[in-house]
Amino acid sequence: MKVKIDNIVIILVICVILICVVTLLGFKSHGEVEDLVQQQFNEQQLMLARQAALGIEGFADERVTIIEILARDRSGDSISDITGCFKTIYEETSGFYSIEFIDANGVVVYGYPEHSAPVGYDLYAENMSGTFDSARDKRETNISSPTPLFEGGLGSFIWVPVYEEEEFKGVILAIIRTTTITDRFLEPIMQDRTGYVYLIDNKGKSLYDGTRREAIGKNYIKMLSEDNDAWLKILNEQMNGSEGTAVYFDEGSRSEQIVAYAPVRWRDQLWSVAISVPASEVDHLIQSVYTKQMTFLGIVIAIILCGSLGLIVMFSRWNKTLEAEVKSKTGDLIQSNKELALANERLKELDKLKSDFVSMVSHELKTPLAAMRTSAQVLEVADINTETKGEMLDIILRNMDRQTNLVNDLLDPSRIESGRMELKFEKLSLDSIIADSVESVRQTAFEKGIALDVELPEDLSSVKADREKLTPVIINLLNNAIKFTSRSGEISIKARELNGQVEVRVSDTGIGIPPEDLDRVFDKFYQVDSTLTREAGGTGLGLAICKGIIEAHNGHVWAESELGKGSTFIFTLEKWSG
Ligand code: ADP
Repeated sequence: MKVKIDNIVIILVICVILICVVTLLGFKSHGEVEDLVQQQFNEQQLMLARQAALGIEGFADERVTIIEILARDRSGDSISDITGCFKTIYEETSGFYSIEFIDANGVVVYGYPEHSAPVGYDLYAENMSGTFDSARDKRETNISSPTPLFEGGLGSFIWVPVYEEEEFKGVILAIIRTTTITDRFLEPIMQDRTGYVYLIDNKGKSLYDGTRREAIGKNYIKMLSEDNDAWLKILNEQMNGSEGTAVYFDEGSRSEQIVAYAPVRWRDQLWSVAISVPASEVDHLIQSVYTKQMTFLGIVIAIILCGSLGLIVMFSRWNKTLEAEVKSKTGDLIQSNKELALANERLKELDKLKSDFVSMVSHELKTPLAAMRTSAQVLEVADINTETKGEMLDIILRNMDRQTNLVNDLLDPSRIESGRMELKFEKLSLDSIIADSVESVRQTAFEKGIALDVELPEDLSSVKADREKLTPVIINLLNNAIKFTSRSGEISIKARELNGQVEVRVSDTGIGIPPEDLDRVFDKFYQVDSTLTREAGGTGLGLAICKGIIEAHNGHVWAESELGKGSTFIFTLEKWSG
């Protein structure tokens, strides 16, 4: 039981420790996961900004390159041949707002699409020739910062000079509307997401703003972030062409924003794309990771609990089996201890029996010998009369008979046991055997004043028995009855038919036999331990011989007794069947 409780306690302790460890790890990892999620989120935002920036760079640069190739490859052609390509380029390469040709005098001579080209517009007359001149003089492409278009919105002006050797033919002016770029690369970023994207140039001018369209074309810093140090810092970083992530508090939405920004380098233009997302987005992500973590933790704890429960059940079953086994083994041990104690007791008894037997045999042998010796000594004396002589000889003969009987008694059990006892069965009438037996003990009974009563039914069936062997059995039972019955007692011998057998009962009113000795009196040399037994002498063989003889007749013998009131010895015999 103790083992069982110990095991359960150990399992429970391990279970609690495991749950604590798992919970601790869960909470520890939760902090790490929080940082990781935050980091991952920032990285992801930065990647998006980078992607957008690279997209813009590639798109814009590709368009510049197309115009440059045209200017270079067709520089030898006539102006009308050059402008003849505009339509194809415009249509094949989406993204241009218009492509115009300005001749060497600064006058717009052609444009496609025609409706958006201010043909005849004289840059010098309008005092707008600065960039034109610069492209011509530097003989290289000049890209202006996004500037407001007549038609509204912002546009990037790409001035590509056309030189045939040293001859300046004019400038191809390609205009890309800023919205063309932002619609394509920035607008889709925030679809289905909270937050917004904005694009600024290196002066802090807003080129695109997902939420503040009114801000486009205006200076961000002055307009929005003058009082917001954190954002001001971010915008300065952006204007320097850096990339990274940072956090600021947005007054408009009254929420903390995470900003990821990446530079757009397009020739000498430097812009910066920024993605601004509420910090609560990360909290949602962390929350969802946290929920998954908690679910996982719950499952692990449940597994630990189930495992522990399983172990407890297994241990208690195992313990029960063990307990049952120990119980049965203990029972076996107790049983064999009892048997051992009993065997020991028996051995002691046997040892006592042996000693008793030795003293009994020597006593039984010595007594007749002493009587014979005394008689012989008397006979030695010459002048004894004939009567005395006869008496002496009688004593000698009686004692010799007694010794012969004793020796026979000692030999009979071994004869019976070895099966050397031969029985001569015949049809016997019990009346005569019982009468003979009673006769032979009558004198002894008379001397003790004991009444002998014989009760036999007249029609008692004959039995199948050996007269010579059966007679000593009855005599022995009668002698015992006389021996263990005090003066003026009564002895009866009765017979009856029962269950197809003949039953003979020899009863006395003697000292009786203790219940625990009732069976044992039939053992060889066994004598009830009492003063009277000791005084009575005897070998303890009589009943063992009786039992052997009766059983050899296929009968049974047993005793019934009440201590102090008397005993009855009963034996059965088969009826003579013909
Ligand atoms: P013995 O009479 O020589 O001792 P038995 O085998 O005849 O040996 O008897 C064994 C023992 O049984 C006796 O010693 C006695 O203690 C007991 N016993 C036998 N018959 C009687 C009886 N009728 N009454 C009381 N005890 C008896």
